[in-house]
Amino acid sequence: MHEEYCYSCDAVLDPSDADVCPKCSRKQTRACFCTRRISKGIATCPQCGTDWAKIDAVHEAQREEHHVDQRAQRRRRLLGAIVGLVILIGVPAAWWMLTSGR
Ligand SMILES: [Zn+2]
Ligand SMILES: [Zn+2]
Repeated sequence: MHEEYCYSCDAVLDPSDADVCPKCSRKQTRACFCTRRISKGIATCPQCGTDWAKIDAVHEAQREEHHVDQRAQRRRRLLGAIVGLVILIGVPAAWWMLTSGR
């Protein structure tokens, strides 16, 4: 019987629960598009040939983009709050100046 190793940290997997690493608790398999369960250490599905290394790279890039998106969104919200505040204070102030200037 050969031992299985974690694809991420190379720890020896528990034979009774080889799907989850006992050390870093990462799942060792994933469900492919063809419904076959494949090890995460395998870059391409042996059944349908899906290139999981490429998909993982894309996911990584998307996560990165999402991160930037959230930051831009926060900045937009902050800008909106400032503009709202300026209008809230500026309009009555301008109105007051216009009406009391005479
Ligand atoms: Zn591990
Ligand atoms: Zn597949």
